[in-house]
Parts: sequence; C-alpha cells; structure tokens
Amino acid sequence: MEKNDILYQLARSVNALGIKRIYLERPVIEFLKDELAVNDSTTPEMKVPKSDKLSEEQVRVEDCRGCSLYKTRTKTVYGDGDNNANLMFIGEAPGADEDKTGIPFVGRAGKLLDRILEEVGLNRSEVYICNTLKCRPPGNRDPLPEESAACSPFLHKQIEVIDPKIIVTLGLPAIRYFVPGNEAMGKLRAKIVDYKNRKILPTYHPAAALRFPAYKEQIYDDIVKARDIMIKDDLL
Ligand code: URA
Repeated sequence: MEKNDILYQLARSVNALGIKRIYLERPVIEFLKDELAVNDSTTPEMKVPKSDKLSEEQVRVEDCRGCSLYKTRTKTVYGDGDNNANLMFIGEAPGADEDKTGIPFVGRAGKLLDRILEEVGLNRSEVYICNTLKCRPPGNRDPLPEESAACSPFLHKQIEVIDPKIIVTLGLPAIRYFVPGNEAMGKLRAKIVDYKNRKILPTYHPAAALRFPAYKEQIYDDIVKARDIMIKDDLL
C-alpha cells in the first residue's frame, strides 16, 4: 500500500467515526510533509476514488436547500451510469418518474433515449446520464434562473469528477449551461462547442421527440456523431 493510500484509509476510518474535519498542528503537518511526501501543507493530496467523490456530492445534493425545490421533491436525482464514462448526457430536470425513483431518465423520455442509445450501439451502462437540476420542478415547468444557479455547482463538480470527453446536451436548459444567450435549439443543434478541453454536442430533448417525432431522427444523428467521435478518438 502506498503512503498516500494509508493516509486515505486513515481519513476514511476517522470519517466513519463521524469526525468530519481534523485540525492539524504545525509539527504534525511538517511530519506529514516529510514522512509521507505529502505536497500540500493543509490539504494533503490523496487519491480519492471517483465513486467516493460522487457519493459525497450525492449526499450534499440530498441535504441541499439551495432553492425552494427541496420543499416539493420526493427524491433528489443525482446521476446514473459509468463513473468513468467518456460520454455524458445532460438533460434538463427530473420528471415525475425520476422524482419517485431517484434515477434520471427512467420515464417515457428516458425509455426513448435508451432505445436511441441501443440503436446506435451504445448501452446506458457505459455512458453517464444526469440533469442540470437535481430536483423536480413542480408540474415539470422550466427551471427558474435561481434554481439553475443554485444547482450549477453540483453539475460543475459532477463534470469535473467524471471527466467525460464528450457531453451531449439534451434540450435548451442543458446547452445554456455551456453556451449562455438566447440562440434557438435549431441553430445550436449538432454544432460542436469546445469547452474546457471537452466537446459539447447539443441536441433536442427526447421529450420533444415524443411530441414531434421528426426530432427523433435528428437526436439519433447527433448521438451517432458523438459515437463516431468516440470511435475516432479511441474513447469507446
Ligand atoms: N427529462 C429530463 O430532462 N431529465 C430526466 O431525468 C427526465 C426527463
């Protein structure tokens, strides 16, 4: 076991006792720096597994009261899929089925997304799926600006931890997170945006394809485009 792993195990054991934070005296910090070759004096750099980081974030989301949606939610909906996925899908916000189960995209729009993924040769279990909002807006109304603002640090962290190379955004609220403004979906669709070393590929929301079936083919084409980039860049 590496020295940093020992330190990490120790921190986990302390955490399991319900101790959330320890203040270290200067001599202890110096000891850690010298003996364990830890390179930062206040927050020793430890290899925290992605799953632990995401579980911690999920607990923060469950405890969140950053906007009024906590009053009406049944369950928070954090994310689903492979924590190491190179391809991430970001939707808008949980609907009634997601609010009940705590899992994103399990209702009718989710079933359509699953079918499209299957048709292009991808499986839900090898991608990661989440939403801009982690709580359901009552009656499935559009997210309010203050709700998006309150929830965006969670999405930011989720992207940072999962570190996908391609993000397919589903619908307007998701692409607005990366491309603010008021350009219409029809203009944005399928045009790749470079964002912090990632490719963002906007497409329609599958719920829109339930209302306007013509969108289904466009979503399909856009996901094929994402898949082909993954194949070309050896990310699958
Ligand atoms: N619509 C979304 O945007 N997300 C879900 O999880 C379900 C429906």
